[in-house]
Amino acid sequence: MSALLPVYRRSNIIMSRGEGVYLFSPEGKRYLDFASGIAVNALGHCHPHVVAALKNQAELLWHCSNMYQVPGLNRMAERLVEVSFADKVFFCNSGGEAVECGLKMIRKYHDATGHPERYRVITMEGGFHGRTLACISAGGNDIARKGYEPLMDGFDRAEFNNLASVEAAIGPETAAILVEPIQGEGGVNVATREFLHGLRSLSDRHGLLLFLDEVQCGMGRTGALFAHEQAEAKPDIVSSAKGIGNGFPLAACLTTDAVASAMTPGSHGSTYGSNPLAMAVGNAVLDVMLAPGFFAHVGQIGSYLKAGLEKLVQRFPDQFAEVRGTGLMLGLKTRKPHYEFVDQLRAAGLLTAPAENQVIRIVPPLIIEPSHVDEALEILQVTAKKWS
Ligand code: PLP
Repeated sequence: MSALLPVYRRSNIIMSRGEGVYLFSPEGKRYLDFASGIAVNALGHCHPHVVAALKNQAELLWHCSNMYQVPGLNRMAERLVEVSFADKVFFCNSGGEAVECGLKMIRKYHDATGHPERYRVITMEGGFHGRTLACISAGGNDIARKGYEPLMDGFDRAEFNNLASVEAAIGPETAAILVEPIQGEGGVNVATREFLHGLRSLSDRHGLLLFLDEVQCGMGRTGALFAHEQAEAKPDIVSSAKGIGNGFPLAACLTTDAVASAMTPGSHGSTYGSNPLAMAVGNAVLDVMLAPGFFAHVGQIGSYLKAGLEKLVQRFPDQFAEVRGTGLMLGLKTRKPHYEFVDQLRAAGLLTAPAENQVIRIVPPLIIEPSHVDEALEILQVTAKKWS
């Protein structure tokens, strides 16, 4: 009997070591990791520059609380501000916390600007924002919500990529719109450029804040620091996690001066948020990601992988329906329940991440090379042939 809370469908495989785009079991079996711990290990496993930064910091200082300045803190925030829409950053430890911070700022902002009645947030069908009570109330995943009722009040549901549906949900108490530019857990559903632009216009017209959850699709995954940059749709708040720490628990909520001006000392916080270890890792990740050519590489290798997956779909039309996504946030939609195929891929040495609606997420480290893509496509083909 396991002593663990039974909340995961955990396989019996032990992963004991990671190097670049590969994971290894204690017996030495090698797995090509095209799941990246669910879009987390953007720089692959044990990236030497990040490991060195963490080791170095581990010998200096781990924690001293947010009562003090720590090395790397201002630098990390300033770097994010310099390369994004944001003026201010709050650091925390997980995607759910970053979303919570955004949701709290929405209420604070409207309260401070004379509209405390505005507290409702329009969220999308198929959306996923984390596991806290507010996050599951905002999210559209029924399994995550079941049995936790009554959920938090203040969320209204609209249809993803349907502007009219969002407009119809706006009322006098609406405070904000929350959307993932690419829904990850929901099945790699990409928001259209028109939809994101339309949300910006609706927000401006109705005095709402536009909150983009980029926990999964951000930090380089689509070939830009944030996915919304490619759609040129400016947000008021962005939540970021996963790739920002490359596996170290680090997350951030970014916002504008206008929203941040509502926040005062004591109005939000986190014991571990922005601790020196996290800042050392975060800065090391940025060193690599912000180097010239990094995002262009993601775009190029993403196109190469997508083209290969499209050929696979053509070759196996009874198994696969389509390829979705952009950059290295790709989804392969299957024609039948996909868990079995994901297991077969893993047995063959390729890790992928199942999402909802029979979509297999293919979210490799952003540092993959064409040889890794070829290796993954070969395993996909051989396994598909047997999956009749
Ligand atoms: N938001 C999105 C878009 C996510 O994909 C996730 C996790 O998958 C979260 C929030 C929650 O992040 P975490 O599990 O780090 O709390």
